[in-house]
Amino acid sequence: MTDNNSPPPPPRKRLFVALMGFTCLLIIGIIYLFWWIPTVGLANIHPSLPKISAALFSILSLVALLGTLLLVLTTALGKDILFTRFMRGVVIKFLLPVIETIGKLLGISKDTIRQSFVAMNNSLVISQKYKLKPDRLLILLPHCLQLFDCEIKVTGDINKCVRCGRCDIRGLAELAQKYRIDISVATGGTLARKVIIEKRPKLVLAVACERDLTSGIKDCYPLPVIGILNDRPFGPCFNTKVDVAKIDAALQAVLL
Ligand code: SF4
Repeated sequence: MTDNNSPPPPPRKRLFVALMGFTCLLIIGIIYLFWWIPTVGLANIHPSLPKISAALFSILSLVALLGTLLLVLTTALGKDILFTRFMRGVVIKFLLPVIETIGKLLGISKDTIRQSFVAMNNSLVISQKYKLKPDRLLILLPHCLQLFDCEIKVTGDINKCVRCGRCDIRGLAELAQKYRIDISVATGGTLARKVIIEKRPKLVLAVACERDLTSGIKDCYPLPVIGILNDRPFGPCFNTKVDVAKIDAALQAVLL
């Protein structure tokens, strides 16, 4: 029997991969157009120019095609084949804004694309097989995970939580204690950035909504970030929840 109250599963990375393939074909189409239009006049300047420009645009198309293929293979196999860190940068800085625009034209919401992007980013980070000591890791949590009515201020020090169990902060504080990992509750992006600068981790495990995770992953690049989406049964930024088991699994994947 299905639980009608449970949130729908977030879109998987395959949506982002499909949009990436589509974007790649579009880029190749645009490259061809840029080649084809001036070629008509190039022959009048020099007879070899059409051949040179054809070679140049073929190389560009091949790079776009191979890059997409490499990303798809890295994601599908979960293995760092070649240039994964650089490719993650290309996805974050270049492809994401293009894919968001294409998604909008196709009627796919920004949030759906961002959720799929986070899943894709996580695959690329995990494929790099990081194995880090606990003191090189940082868990960043949004303030809205704490129960609104709780009178204890956990921003700054999560260990002030008395583990009453009315919100997920309890499970997360216990997890941080179990693995001896730094855990911070941030009230916004500015504070999160400040914590990262102070603690200088090698990898961040962040919990947030798709919008904040996407901007956090972008801001932190090249620092690897694994993003875990929070659940929002009461709407955004209020008494949100997270599956602690997912964080435990992600930690086990990157801890030495
Ligand atoms: S688990 Fe901790 S943070 Fe959550 S309500 Fe209880 S004391 Fe407050």
